Formats: sequence, structure tokens, C-alpha cells
Amino acid sequence: MNDLGVHALVWVGGWSEEESREAIAGTAACGYDLIEIPLLDPSRVDVEATRQQLEEYGVRAAASLGLSLDTDISSDDDEAVARGEALLHNALAVARDVGSRYLCGVIHSAIARYAKPPTERGRANCAEVLRRLADKAAASDMLLGLEPVNRYESNLLNTGDHALDMIDLIGADNVCVHLDVYHMNIEDGDLAGAIERCGDKLGYFHVGESHRGYLGTGSIDFTQVFRALVRVGYQGPITFESFSSAVVDPQLSTALAIWRDLWTDSEDLARRARAFIEAGMDAARRTTWA
Ligand code: MN
Repeated sequence: MNDLGVHALVWVGGWSEEESREAIAGTAACGYDLIEIPLLDPSRVDVEATRQQLEEYGVRAAASLGLSLDTDISSDDDEAVARGEALLHNALAVARDVGSRYLCGVIHSAIARYAKPPTERGRANCAEVLRRLADKAAASDMLLGLEPVNRYESNLLNTGDHALDMIDLIGADNVCVHLDVYHMNIEDGDLAGAIERCGDKLGYFHVGESHRGYLGTGSIDFTQVFRALVRVGYQGPITFESFSSAVVDPQLSTALAIWRDLWTDSEDLARRARAFIEAGMDAARRTTWA
């Protein structure tokens, strides 16, 4: 059975000791197994407090981040690449120390609207940095997840196929594809086919609606998505990701262009999302030959 997760931004915009407790308590109260903690600034996480709260509430952690143009490892600018590599190693250490098995997200490039396509040198820089990060992660039995995002948020990896090519270039066993339905809905005509092509390289999965609000109120065909996850025998986490201007992380919310108030009640949103995913996966397991 897959761990069901929820992104911290459903609950809180920061990660003070009070905020992390609120987020982790809410995650547990709604029956989730896992919370995804954003590590855009790993230094703002009190590792010991977070680890204790996770243990107290019986919640597992995943960790994610997106780079910025200033820390873009797919850049031609060696200094930006070096800053990005340092940030990723800090984030990996914090993820490991709070007990996460995953460091995922847009760890391959900036979350930005690029003005030009990636260069060969930038692509090679990305692969080299991630090869060293994967080595470090392997020592702690951790997985790196590369999240393809839509064309307005990266120029490097926009589809699962792009991520598979990058994984070949990196050449490490503990790098997986982290798909997100919200982005696939923009970039992939065939959601099920995109999942199937990733197959056993799929290691982390984001469920989000076409407008990033309540599941089932947008245009995504989740029946196809859940059936494809069952068909490929996917065992990893399924994490609900949703953003509203009701909960704001000053850095992440602007990078993701969250200008609208799509929900205000975190708990109602989280409870309904969990029920939606569970019912969808149960139905897919009953109707799909794995
Ligand atoms: Mn995502």
C-alpha cells in the first residue's frame, strides 16, 4: 500500500516550531502517513524539534525543494551551480536528519519562467551535481526524485521522458522520477502513458488538481491516473499538493504564481483529498490487472 502524504503548504506557510506542530498534527488528524516539508531554505528547519514532532504524531516525512535562478545547477554560470550544489547538500542533510527517505521536487533547475532553452553545458552541470548528490544520498539509503514541471516553471525537465533521460545521464540507481499530475495535465496528452513509460523508475507522486485546488473540482481524469499507478505496480508515496493564497510561503507561493484563493479551510481540503485518493486507488485496484 502506498503512503498517503500531504504537502505542508496545505497547513502553514512557514516552519517555526509552532507552525511545524500545527502542520504535523493536522496531517496526523486527517489520517495521512506522511508530510512533505519544503526545504527551500533548509536553515529555517529546527531539525530536532521537527524530528520529535514527527515521532510524537507518528507521521513520516518527505522533503522537497525547488532551486532559484541564483542557485540553478542547470546554469552555465559556475558560481550559481556551486551555490545550488551547496544548497542541495544542506537540504539533503536536513531531510536525512528529520528522517526523510526522499529529497524530491525541482532539484534539477530553477522554478522560473526561463527566457531560453537549456544548454548542453547546463544539462551536463545538472547531471554532475546530481550524481554527487545521489552518491551522498545513497550512503543514507535515500532517494532523489526529479520532478518534471510545466514549461512556465522550468526549461529543463517538462515531462517524465525528460526526467528518464536525465536519470540515464546521471547514472545512479537511487534517482527516480517524481511525477505531478498538475504539470502532466499541461505537458502530457496521455497521462496514463506518461506514468507507464516511467514504470519502475517512478518513485514519488504528486496529486494536484488542474487549478491546484480541491481534488475532483478541476479537469483532470484521475480514474486514468490511479489505474496507471496500479498497472505499473507503484508502491511509493502519493502526496496531495495544493496551494491557495489563504496559506502563503513568501518564496514558494510567488514562484508557483499562487494568486488565487482556491480554498480557506485546510482541514476540510486535506480530509476530502485523502478520501478522494483512497477511494480512487481502491477502485483502481479492484478494476485493474497489475
Ligand atoms: Mn509538485
